[in-house]
Amino acid sequence: MRVNLLGVEIDALSMEDTVTRVAGLIRDNRPARVMTLNPEYLYQAQFDRGLLDQARRADLVTADGEGIVWACRVAGCPVPERVTGIDLMMRLLEKASLSGWSVYLFGAAPGVADAAAERILRDYPGLKIAGSRHGYFQADEESGIAREIQKTGPDLLFVALGAPKQEIWIDRYLEKTGAGVAIGVGGSFDVLAGRVRRAPRWVRRLRLEWLARLLRQPTRWRRQVVLPLFAWTVIKRYKLKRK
Ligand code: UDP
Repeated sequence: MRVNLLGVEIDALSMEDTVTRVAGLIRDNRPARVMTLNPEYLYQAQFDRGLLDQARRADLVTADGEGIVWACRVAGCPVPERVTGIDLMMRLLEKASLSGWSVYLFGAAPGVADAAAERILRDYPGLKIAGSRHGYFQADEESGIAREIQKTGPDLLFVALGAPKQEIWIDRYLEKTGAGVAIGVGGSFDVLAGRVRRAPRWVRRLRLEWLARLLRQPTRWRRQVVLPLFAWTVIKRYKLKRK
């Protein structure tokens, strides 16, 4: 089932069902886009038609971020759980190792994608890594990167350029890469490579991962400053209008 939140259709799926849907998209054998939607992106999309259309073109949109889960509840269309880029990636890697899918890692600082690939191979020795490449490039290199990926023929392409850069890149180049499914996964390679530690599980259970990330990386306040505006937009649209 899909639920509409501020103009974007979000798939109301558990993690388990999301993984099953991605497997289906790979089987369909046509390029598919998966978006892990966070509140910052959805708020920006209210003022940027391009971002809104990209989200609408995605084949699967997951509720990344506590803000999206909360907003769906306020809008009267709750989603079963939060499905973040990093959690989805971990589950898909496990599934890839069992199903024989090949994966490509594109993004993060030089050396990070390679280190993430090494860590993945330690955890899943048989997994097929089609290739890896860092995420710092000039605009005129973009087509070349897509071609480079295409030569390796990955089933799954993880793109870690941060939102909304990764969604813009996927939207523009997915067909050229020939990948089965592309997913934007933000800072996941940094975590996999051991460069950034995720908040402990108890902090995540308290739904405070955003706060832990802000304390570790205070420059994130710039992006998180839109969160109260996002909350106000949701309340205005779904609570005040109803009255
Ligand atoms: N990044 C990149 N190219 C860029 C800008 C960012 O590869 O031009 C990478 C950056 O190194 C980091 C990731 O994108 O690994 C963004 O991480 P962040 O935690 O900000 O992503 P979020 O999940 O919050 O969108």
